[in-house]
Amino acid sequence: MVLSWFVRRTRLPLLSMRCVDCRSESATTGEGAFRVNANGKLLDVWLLVRCVSCDRTSKLTVHERAPVRTFDPAELDRYHTNDPDVVASRLLDPLLARRNRCTLDWEGAWRLHTPQERLDEAWPVQVEVVFDDPVPVRPERLIAQGLGLSRNEVLRRVKCDIPLRRTTSAGFTFTLMPGTTPEA
Ligand SMILES: [Zn+2]
Repeated sequence: MVLSWFVRRTRLPLLSMRCVDCRSESATTGEGAFRVNANGKLLDVWLLVRCVSCDRTSKLTVHERAPVRTFDPAELDRYHTNDPDVVASRLLDPLLARRNRCTLDWEGAWRLHTPQERLDEAWPVQVEVVFDDPVPVRPERLIAQGLGLSRNEVLRRVKCDIPLRRTTSAGFTFTLMPGTTPEA
């Protein structure tokens, strides 16, 4: 039996970046707005973010001096209308954080969805973890939370194809062994 778990965002993550005015380290995209600036045949596209403590607005570079002809007109239109799906996909693209030297703050912005099936029938139980959004998680913690086990028990009973203690946002599979074996 293979169960599927899903890691899914509940809202957009905040950004960890230092405000030049108030030194706060947290910014938000809010509803999500782009700014498009044409300079001859080149376009700059920014995603606007604002400091959560003083509201100062700053711009994250999405496209820098990109030739207009390289844009699909539909894509450009979605920037002009601040399409929420495009806001999410640009914000979650790892390239954006890297290019703008900030990191995404996922604290409280995601949930683990687990199916309702009971785990007490056939052993061992296999679970496939699917990432609907690229949330960085430590498998050890995620599994402990999903199964209601202590982290020690997870380390003892779980066999996994990736290191349990290393943060990942790529799908993985693990096997839970029965916990009834008396300890030696
Ligand atoms: Zn500020």
